Amino acid sequence: MRLVDTHCHLDSDELRDDLDAVLARARDAGVERMVSVAVSAASAEYLVGLAAERAEVFAAVGVHPCYVHEAAAGDWDRVSALVDRPKVVALGETGLDKHWNVAPFDLQQEYFDRHLRLSAATGLPFVTHTRDCEPDVFAMLEAARARGPLTGVMHSFTGTPESAARCVEWGLYVSFAGMVTFKKSDELRRTAAAVPDDRILVETDSPYLSPQPLRGKRNEPANVVHTARVVAEARGVTLEVLAEQTTANARRLFSRMT
Ligand SMILES: [Zn+2]
Repeated sequence: MRLVDTHCHLDSDELRDDLDAVLARARDAGVERMVSVAVSAASAEYLVGLAAERAEVFAAVGVHPCYVHEAAAGDWDRVSALVDRPKVVALGETGLDKHWNVAPFDLQQEYFDRHLRLSAATGLPFVTHTRDCEPDVFAMLEAARARGPLTGVMHSFTGTPESAARCVEWGLYVSFAGMVTFKKSDELRRTAAAVPDDRILVETDSPYLSPQPLRGKRNEPANVVHTARVVAEARGVTLEVLAEQTTANARRLFSRMT
């Protein structure tokens, strides 16, 4: 069985000091590739370097909505300069966040727009974070869609089957993280069951939000298997089938992934 963890943060303090063991456990769990997603220009530069050293690691480059207020003049140029580097497969993490409320919302929108336009210009898929502001994210995706076709993923999706269907209609992929394994997440499992076979992805978003039965512990890419198992069960397929589908989808979306 082969899995792709389509969203993790290997440069986080929790994972970077222990990286050899983290990657070994991922390999043992069948996680043969992972996309490590940047939160800032410095993070993006670090991850491009890491991807060059580690065969299984690929990078997404961008500025996370909760970090946009910390970006210095010139940071966006640093991110943009990385798009053609080897093993850069996506742009992000981008999107909007009204939950943590740490960065001015208009600045979050400005950066989301930059990622969407850079995606259109480069063909690299964007990685969308949505927290307590789905209508705002959808409005910006609609505006981008009016300019041209979208390529990207809704990461750690927590919406309804209807909103997932809208994303699919717009050409996007829908990715599920540990939250789908939680006991109370029946509605989210219904959403995971409703996404078409060729658009569903799984991820850890590690080091955050470990899936059951590891809830409360530090998360890491090996744990994507727990999320995949729950998603497979919700969809009435075996873990092996779900792994095959999601891996094929990840390779189609992140087309520069080798
Ligand atoms: Zn993330």
